[in-house]
Amino acid sequence: MVSLNNVPLQRCPTEQVKISWGEHVVRVGGASPVVVQSMTNTDTADGLATAMQIKELYLAGSELVRITVNNEAAAKEVPYIRDQLDKMRIPVPLVGDFHYNGHLLLQQFPDCAQALSKYRINPGNVGSARSRDENFASMIELAIRYNKAVRIGVNWGSLDQILLARMMDENATRAEPLPPEQLMYQALTESAVSSADKAVGLGLGANRIVLSCKVSQVQDLIAVYRVLATRSRYPLHLGLTEAGMGTKGIVSSTAALAVLLQEGIGDTIRVSLTPEPGGGRTREVVVAQEILQSMGLRAFTPQVIACPGCGRTTSTVFQELASDIQSWLREQMPVWKNTYPGVEALKVAVMGCVVNGPGESKHADIGISLPGTGEAPSAPVFLDGQRAITLKGPAIAQEFKTLVNDYVRKRYAGLPPVQHEAQPFTPQTNPVSPE
Ligand code: SF4
Repeated sequence: MVSLNNVPLQRCPTEQVKISWGEHVVRVGGASPVVVQSMTNTDTADGLATAMQIKELYLAGSELVRITVNNEAAAKEVPYIRDQLDKMRIPVPLVGDFHYNGHLLLQQFPDCAQALSKYRINPGNVGSARSRDENFASMIELAIRYNKAVRIGVNWGSLDQILLARMMDENATRAEPLPPEQLMYQALTESAVSSADKAVGLGLGANRIVLSCKVSQVQDLIAVYRVLATRSRYPLHLGLTEAGMGTKGIVSSTAALAVLLQEGIGDTIRVSLTPEPGGGRTREVVVAQEILQSMGLRAFTPQVIACPGCGRTTSTVFQELASDIQSWLREQMPVWKNTYPGVEALKVAVMGCVVNGPGESKHADIGISLPGTGEAPSAPVFLDGQRAITLKGPAIAQEFKTLVNDYVRKRYAGLPPVQHEAQPFTPQTNPVSPE
């Protein structure tokens, strides 16, 4: 018989890696909450644009930000980017993404090596057969010298071909050769784990290494990380690479990450979304947070519980209010998270009619049940499960925000309601009528 118990999720045990800039430390692995990270898409050589995008990503909730360091112009600009962020009091640690020439850039630009907090190394892209061990060792030695963490980041599209060829040869001699996809999973994980072990052999602490094995298909990612999680205690960075645009990218990433996270696999996540033309980069941060929060793994911002609407809602008032409140709550968080500790777990219900509206609103901390078709044009508001007030008239959205604000002040800081000059909540002067 299926158990009805809600079993608490057990994380796979991993080492804890500290990634820091100054006093600001982000912990990945061990008992730390799953960390959200993102990556810029500006030209790193454009230092100001990159610094501004990093600031946006950090303010949206990205706890680590990765930047491409692909050439000398980019490497030269990294210290300037770090300096700009420090001036703006943005302490987010920066991760340098290196391919092909990382060993050269980190050697030639020591200020770049110092300004970064972590180096991403792709073992499939560190050089030719002759030079790759030397180049890899050089990057690890620089990480040791500058006291930095590294991510050994293997990617399906740039898998170490020498390793793959050797494993294919070995597989061919087996009595029962592995199927091609199984062999690929083994090659990806072997590349990551053996490279990490090599780094430890070179003197880098095991508590300075994060692993990833990114692929672009959901089932492949799940299979690869299930293997990877059994092979070491290095913390794991999860992400579906090239997830795609819009709904497809969000759904694919969520499907893959949710399965693994539910199995306790994953210590930091990135959602690799292709932005819509002109779209913001911060969406990938919001989606990553939503995945973790909807699974109950972390809380970042108050959640709006909204019904889908149906034939009982004949106008867009309800959709607009739900969307408006969710955006507004997120906008408040940079200030609220410092002023009102715990507010990120607040639950707000915005419901479309009387069928489920009052019930769902009662289960939220604060909820509003809008009038459906044919219902009286009033919207009861529930505070802590009790019907507290009824809003009427054209300013319901603004008045509800005011009520949420007052609820937050009172509950999370013990403060009295703000005195509202324009829209006082008094029975005599405004459209709000307590019932
Ligand atoms: S709460 Fe009302 S409007 Fe919303 S989905 Fe249910 S019946 Fe439809």
